[in-house]
This record gives sequence, C-alpha cells and structure tokens, in this order.
Amino acid sequence: LVRAEEVTKSFGENQVLKGVNLDVHRGEVVVVIGPSGSGKTTLVRTLNHLEPHDGGQIVVNGETIGYRIDGDGRKLPLGDAAMAQQRSNIGMVFQRFNLFPHLSVLENVTLAPVQTKLMTQAEADEYGRELLKRVGMGQHSSKYPHQLSGGQQQRVAIARALAMKPSVMLFDEPTSALDPELVAEVLDVIAGLANDGMTMVIVTHEMRLARDVADWVVFMEEGNVVDTGSPEHIFGPDGCDRVQRFVKHVS
Ligand code: ATP
Repeated sequence: LVRAEEVTKSFGENQVLKGVNLDVHRGEVVVVIGPSGSGKTTLVRTLNHLEPHDGGQIVVNGETIGYRIDGDGRKLPLGDAAMAQQRSNIGMVFQRFNLFPHLSVLENVTLAPVQTKLMTQAEADEYGRELLKRVGMGQHSSKYPHQLSGGQQQRVAIARALAMKPSVMLFDEPTSALDPELVAEVLDVIAGLANDGMTMVIVTHEMRLARDVADWVVFMEEGNVVDTGSPEHIFGPDGCDRVQRFVKHVS
C-alpha cells in the first residue's frame, strides 16, 4: 500500500535521507524508531509530500506521490488540486495537535470531509460523532480545544484525520508533546486502530508502541534504515547491536 524506493532528501548540504526503502502492506503497522536527527520525521513527511523528496519514488495506493510522469517519462510536479486529492487519502497526525482553536471538537472533525465534498454536513456530523466515540471523546463534541487536555486534543486530532476515510494513517511522534500521564490514552487509541486493521506508519520514541503494536519495526540511523524486522527480532537477542544499545538507552 505504501512503498518508498531509494528515497533521498537533503536540506542544503545535509543529506537527511540516503536512499530509504520502505514497504507497508494493507493492514500493517510499521513503527519507525531511531536516534534524534536520524531522519524519521523527514521520512514520514515525505510520504505525503509535506516534504518533497529529491530522489527515488514514493507510491501510495498505486499513485506516485507528488509527481506525474509525462509521455516522455519525465517527472513533473503535481498541481495543488491533484496534490490535495492524494493527501486526502493519507491521514496525518502531528506531534502538536494543530486543532483549529475557534472550532468545536465536532467541527474540527467534520470540516475537511464537508469542504472537500466527501460528505454532506449531516453525514459528516454522524460519522464525526462515531469517530469521536471511537477515540473516547464522544462526551466532548461541543467543547473547544482550549478546554481539553493535550491527550484529549491529540485524540480529536486522530479522529479528524480518520474523518477523510484515509487508506493509511501517518503519525509523527504523536505522544512527544504530552505529559507522561497522558501518553497511555493516546497509545490505547492507536492500538485500537491497529486492532481494527488500519494501515499505519508511526514515528515514535515510545518503545511501547514498537513492542506492542508494530507488525514491523524500522530502525533508522543517519538517514539509513539500519535494521528492520518484527518486534521480536528487533528487541530480541538476535537484533543488531546498534539497535540494542539504542533501546537500552531510551528505555
Ligand atoms: P527527532 O527524533 O529528534 O525528531 P528525527 O529522526 O525525526 O529526529 P528529522 O527531524 O527527520 O530527524 O531530522 C533529520 C535532520 O534533518 C536533522 O539534522 C535536522 O536538523 C534536519 N532537518 C529537518 N527538517 C529540516 C528543515 N526543514 N530544514 C533544515 N534541516 C532540517
């Protein structure tokens, strides 16, 4: 469903992705871990073209992300409308929840599907309430973001991303901005989505997610994927030394 092939990306002289490959099948949860600055956030942002990549290619749902290929095989950047269309199929949850402060919880969730004409307001309201229940926020639909804790805001942000019925959800360090006591409620929601078969790519420093929710763990260092495997492999005695040292350091 999501394939990155030899993806490269530089910021000026700094090559942050050095030919990354990633393959995520439908229903799989891939958790990306690694030291600070290894390129995890950049990788997940290239998957929906929030960060345009320099080389290689990214294919989601059979579509080349960010570009179209013309008759002569040249790669041409997509226009805004085509890009928005591609992104609507890819849900994204950020470290900072970025809710619209002047909209209620339910309005935050229904805005995009109504604006893009995916649903009527009535359909979006109904589906939005269902999603808010699913993330444990059913009681709070008329509140405003400032009335919610960080964990609650992040759960609304997850419902908002789900509202577009994306085929894949990307998470960029979804619990890093939360107080420690609020992390578990967000992890529980993500684990619930995994149980429901949602395809997800999750960048995180939370080893619990990698251990308990991942089908595959990808370990990145200095712009490369250094090791990839099941949590049992990555965290078990056969995992590579470098990964074991990292895990010991962060746990
Ligand atoms: P962390 O775990 O600390 O978030 P990370 O593994 O997600 O780290 P990235 O955020 O992808 O790493 O950053 C990789 C490198 O790219 C870092 O050296 C960072 O300074 C650089 N970088 C990231 N975004 C930009 C940008 N917009 N402009 C310039 N450099 C950037």
